[in-house]
Amino acid sequence: MVNFFDIDEKILELAEKIELELAFEFERIDKISSHNENKVLRAFIDNRVSEIHFNSTTGYGYNDLGRDVLERVYSKVFGADDALVRHNFVSGTHALSASLFGILRPGDLLVSVAGKPYDTICRVIGVHGPKISGCFLDYGVRYDEISLLKSGRVDVESIKNFDWSRVKLAYIQRSRGYSLRPALAIDEISEISDIIHNSSKNTVVFVDNCYGEFVCEKEPTDVGADLAVGSLIKNPGGGIAVTGGYVVGRKELVEFCANGLTAPGIGKEVGCSLGQNRNMYMGLFFAPSVVASALKVSAFSRRLFERLGYRVFPKSGEDIGDIVSVLQLGSEKALTAFCEGIQSGSVVDSFVVPQAWNMPGYQEKVIMASGAFTSGSSIEISADAPLKEPYNVYLQGGLTYNSGKMCVMLALQKMLSKGLINIEF
Ligand SMILES: *Cc1c(COP(=O)(O)O)cnc(C)c1O
Repeated sequence: MVNFFDIDEKILELAEKIELELAFEFERIDKISSHNENKVLRAFIDNRVSEIHFNSTTGYGYNDLGRDVLERVYSKVFGADDALVRHNFVSGTHALSASLFGILRPGDLLVSVAGKPYDTICRVIGVHGPKISGCFLDYGVRYDEISLLKSGRVDVESIKNFDWSRVKLAYIQRSRGYSLRPALAIDEISEISDIIHNSSKNTVVFVDNCYGEFVCEKEPTDVGADLAVGSLIKNPGGGIAVTGGYVVGRKELVEFCANGLTAPGIGKEVGCSLGQNRNMYMGLFFAPSVVASALKVSAFSRRLFERLGYRVFPKSGEDIGDIVSVLQLGSEKALTAFCEGIQSGSVVDSFVVPQAWNMPGYQEKVIMASGAFTSGSSIEISADAPLKEPYNVYLQGGLTYNSGKMCVMLALQKMLSKGLINIEF
């Protein structure tokens, strides 16, 4: 084999071993990916997707055929009645926030069932940090939270005992986001949805689906959630959609979300596609296999680092409900070397050396490695970490398995070159 990357023989040998051990897990990932790819293909065929749907509209975008059919394709794929799939969503946070604004009214109670939500969503609500003007608490929406158990799992008993009749919206974050708690399995989302719906028919079960799409065969809207929302520069954009977000779920609720995005009375009827339809179709088509690549990169990195004596989350071989893995590197030097290595193998901006910097919303400096075709895309390989004990790095993505694996090996190589690690096995 030609060694294009000057990787130490010991790392190459270890990587080969790790890959052999992962054969069974990779096969499982491929099975899920085939299922999801077939599901997506079926939805394209059933909706007679055609070249005409890639045409662009401008202005109001009335009767944008491509946009409307794409939303039908998404509905089918996610087992939902309706969908809102728009490049006009500036990010996942915007899709989540606009949807919540479409549904919640002053006096309503919003309850997070999986502990503290993702940082940007805490800002939207106005909890766990600075209360920013225009957040939900400003509008008189009330907030409550069911804490996670010590194990990091959702507290099903407390969810059962909660008085849901008072609750307008139950917020479930599927992914770990940037925390150590495990992602929710689809069966847990199903169980929680059932508990809530059985005790209160009118409570909206709302899922932040970021990083969870196509990780397993089912989506939250297949198993009882009323709405699921996510970002197109993560899983469902397949690395091809260049911006945007989506909402899938019950028809009347999707309409409310559309009012939150555009305006009451306009809803889903407007929004020109500006030439973005083709990217969004093509991205969805690729998404199941790109997610499979990201899952393999995750499995590879966790098994590799676990073998070298590091703590990893989830543990190697454990079920994974999203594409995020956490490696506990134990020192600032190791963390920095790791991120430098990831960056050095990135297809874009490989020559850049990541620096830790002060990011709004964080107490500590944060270091990030990301060299992506789409700025900030985290379905492409990326790593980020706050500079604090125990020096956990969050690793996600990989458009192809090989390129992601190469980044991980380069990260290890950087640690080895700097004398931060011993490779004996
Ligand atoms: C990425 C993400 C979001 C939204 O983040 P954006 O950067 O605004 O797209 C929300 N929740 C979770 C769990 C996420 O992973």
